[in-house]
Amino acid sequence: MRKYFTFLFLFCLSTFVYAQNTEYKLVNRLIEYASIYTQSEYDKDTVPSSEEQRILAQLLAEELQSFGVQDVEVDEHSYVYGTIKGNVKNAPTLFLSAHLDTSPDLDLQGKAPTPVVHNYKGGNLVVNKELNIVLTPEKDEFLKAAAGGMVITSDGSTLLGGDDKAGMSVVMTIAETLATNPNIPHGDVRIIFTPDEEIGNSTKYLTKENIAADFGLVLDSHGFGRIVVENFNATDFTFTVKTPSAGHPGYSSNVPPLNIATNFVSKFPEALASYKSSGKDGYLSYYKTKALSSNEYAVYGRIRSFELNEMQLYKKMLLSWAQETAKQYNLDYITVINDVKNNDLESAASVTLEMKDSYFNSKEVLKNYPTNYNLIVKAYEMAGVKMYAESGRGGSDAGDITYLGIPTYNMFAGSHNEHSQDEWVSSKQMLASYNVALEYIKLIGQQDRLSMLREGNPKYTPAVPTLNMKHIERVQQKILKKYGNSFSNF
Ligand SMILES: [Zn+2]
Repeated sequence: MRKYFTFLFLFCLSTFVYAQNTEYKLVNRLIEYASIYTQSEYDKDTVPSSEEQRILAQLLAEELQSFGVQDVEVDEHSYVYGTIKGNVKNAPTLFLSAHLDTSPDLDLQGKAPTPVVHNYKGGNLVVNKELNIVLTPEKDEFLKAAAGGMVITSDGSTLLGGDDKAGMSVVMTIAETLATNPNIPHGDVRIIFTPDEEIGNSTKYLTKENIAADFGLVLDSHGFGRIVVENFNATDFTFTVKTPSAGHPGYSSNVPPLNIATNFVSKFPEALASYKSSGKDGYLSYYKTKALSSNEYAVYGRIRSFELNEMQLYKKMLLSWAQETAKQYNLDYITVINDVKNNDLESAASVTLEMKDSYFNSKEVLKNYPTNYNLIVKAYEMAGVKMYAESGRGGSDAGDITYLGIPTYNMFAGSHNEHSQDEWVSSKQMLASYNVALEYIKLIGQQDRLSMLREGNPKYTPAVPTLNMKHIERVQQKILKKYGNSFSNF
């Protein structure tokens, strides 16, 4: 009996020490990575956009090699790849990834963040007294949940870069755990670190071949327990009006292109604007107008929605507004849809509406792999973490990679208030992210690769599905009801 208790005591102690160890490792790595300046830069033609990302990429590659990760490689664009060979047969290959860069939205002017570790017992947490940066748990349930662990912030003068250095720390610590504990059963696990995520370039050089995995998990979501299960469908549009000549303003009766463009934008109901949209609503909005020459004017805009049918409806509305405008001013009407022009007109007086699909909702693919989703739900359960499934109101790496043919989710890594000076990371929540990801690795390691892939393949169609007119009518009714008669033409 006594022997049993001793064993139980030692077992509990070792689990506790192991968890503590892991938590310290996660925090130490976060501090190390966050102390390296890797802000990406807008308007650069090169990937990576900042040289410092190359330095971090190299350090990460060396760290992976130090505990025996195989095939470690840093390519010319600073993508880091590595493989931890599996110790079970026929399991799917999973990749884990995080990004190297931090947001350029808060200009650090080359200054590396100074991470500060707080032993957080609850209550207000002062990040910077002079700048009056204080975190208050009353307004933040996740900060409340961080009590009893460490909270890492910057000194308040910069962002911390927990987005995505927290994810990076989780991925690296998992790599170490798997590479140094051969008793944990798992399939092949690919490790990938990407550059320039914050400026939208992180998947630019990723292919199915260099990812070389069947399923994926991106550790780049904020919050505690969050998992992004879908993202927007996105189409961008440009409306261009060209008139023969604006003429002399004192004598000409020609309508200037600006007035025609203004007429076009006046058709956009404010109710559908991006700033009126939240949650599961989509939007149809313009964001920029520009004079291309004295007789040419352009309007740029976006269509976003979680539903493909709703996208089609918005496209239809847009086409009809452009056509109406052309008719009103007696101009030729040209459309270019996904680079296909509807006629060969080279008109000197025209309205051209160009629409191009940019990305699709990952849900359209992910829903075809229910076993994979169920494994993630189970991994959360086993790690004792509450799951928050969310709809991401933008594009994402996970979405892009899913459309490369590798079903991928984006999961929390324990960071909060990203891209700001009051950014913070919870040690407990990083550990929770690590635990969920590790459980998922173990669970997927028990699956048969072919049967998991077969589940989705027959249905896998990245192309736009055929239209469901009934759904379109329902959306029309919804819009009519919500916004009134301004939509009666559709
Ligand atoms: Zn990020």
